[in-house]
Amino acid sequence: MTRSEELFEEAKKYIPGGVNSPVRAFGSIGSTPRFIRSGSGGHMTDEDGLEYVDFIGSWGPMLLGHDREEVRESVLDAVSRGLSFGAATEIEVRMARLICEMVPSIEMVRMVNSGTEAVMSAIRVARGFTGRDKIVKFDGCYHGHSDGLLVRAGSGVMTAGAPGSLGVPAGCTADTLTARYNDLANVEALFAENPGQIAAVIVEPVAANMGVVLPEEGFLPGLRELCTEYGALLIFDEVITGFRLGPDGAQGWFGVTPDLTTFGKIIGAGMPVGAYGGRREIMELVAPLGGVYQAGTLSGNPVAMAAGYTQLSLMQKYPEWYEELNAKADRFFTSMQEILTRCGKPYQVSHLGSLGCLFFTAETVRDYDSAKTSDTAAFARYCNFMLNHGVYLAPAQFEAIFLSAAHTEEDLTKFLGLLEEYMK
Ligand SMILES: *Cc1c(COP(=O)(O)O)cnc(C)c1O
Repeated sequence: MTRSEELFEEAKKYIPGGVNSPVRAFGSIGSTPRFIRSGSGGHMTDEDGLEYVDFIGSWGPMLLGHDREEVRESVLDAVSRGLSFGAATEIEVRMARLICEMVPSIEMVRMVNSGTEAVMSAIRVARGFTGRDKIVKFDGCYHGHSDGLLVRAGSGVMTAGAPGSLGVPAGCTADTLTARYNDLANVEALFAENPGQIAAVIVEPVAANMGVVLPEEGFLPGLRELCTEYGALLIFDEVITGFRLGPDGAQGWFGVTPDLTTFGKIIGAGMPVGAYGGRREIMELVAPLGGVYQAGTLSGNPVAMAAGYTQLSLMQKYPEWYEELNAKADRFFTSMQEILTRCGKPYQVSHLGSLGCLFFTAETVRDYDSAKTSDTAAFARYCNFMLNHGVYLAPAQFEAIFLSAAHTEEDLTKFLGLLEEYMK
């Protein structure tokens, strides 16, 4: 038995499924988790001393790679002054100002501890602001695990093949309407069928939890128009795309302005952080200013803020890093597609910026149903091959490849070489 296998046996005795988040289980590819000891740049080392090129980057946060010196130093400095005070600190003000500077649609922002919390809170604010109860989400989009959003959610729920979750009362999802991604007519019909009742439309502006599915031309501007026309708020869940596609995320990339935005992952640089923000008149409804209650003992934690602030301020200071990362990623994903074509495989690489995904299907993927035509058994074989050759991918078809600024040409060439070897 390897050390990872030993640890997994032990873990299963005390932790459900041996993991603290289902997406870390390797069951869907018929394998067991590798226990990670350390990471550096674009690499991770497991408890058996095996080294991997890491294409998950903690599911997004590690935009600058593992153990980035500036981030580490700022965290150590914060730690030396105390872990948490449950009181206001200067770093929270700097963080909030930085987010407002980088993302023009955000005039006020509230920090929380996870993406789940950010989305749950943003929806509460949207309901408070509009005085309406219903929300529209898209099939295959994942917005965290709060009750009302575990409806045809992507990511781990999709891999598990479940429509939702046990333990969610029907009443909690009664106000959640679902629409097909990239289908404006579907959204318009929901507005028409529920006049004056829809508080918000929430969308991943690039869907990255059913593989990577790009918004078609006109989809995001169309949502903006529909929300404005029907008096609903448009919420961009930028937990993955925020500070990844560029300093102002997907909203900057596509030039569409949401009313509220949620963040997570990159904003904490590996620490547990989320945030939601938007127009001042909306955010002024949040307690203690307004009547929408939302709180958090550890929200704005100084150590977490130090990590996130350092990563984001580096990206603000060196915007060319985004151009370099996106250009590198574009070459990488294009090469993947060329290899598939050369090997006569009908599979497709869907990508934007440093996000991408290899769909094991010949169908054009534009929504949840077409994503589900993927051959997950073929994905599992490929994923195991990669893992056994030192390439760490998300162990499920419906997840993204996350590139970081720390990946070297050598790392990418290694992956491409293995892909060609495997596809032949
Ligand atoms: C990961 C994710 C979330 C949930 O964030 P957690 O920090 O895991 O709670 C919400 N929305 C999107 C788009 C995500 O990718």
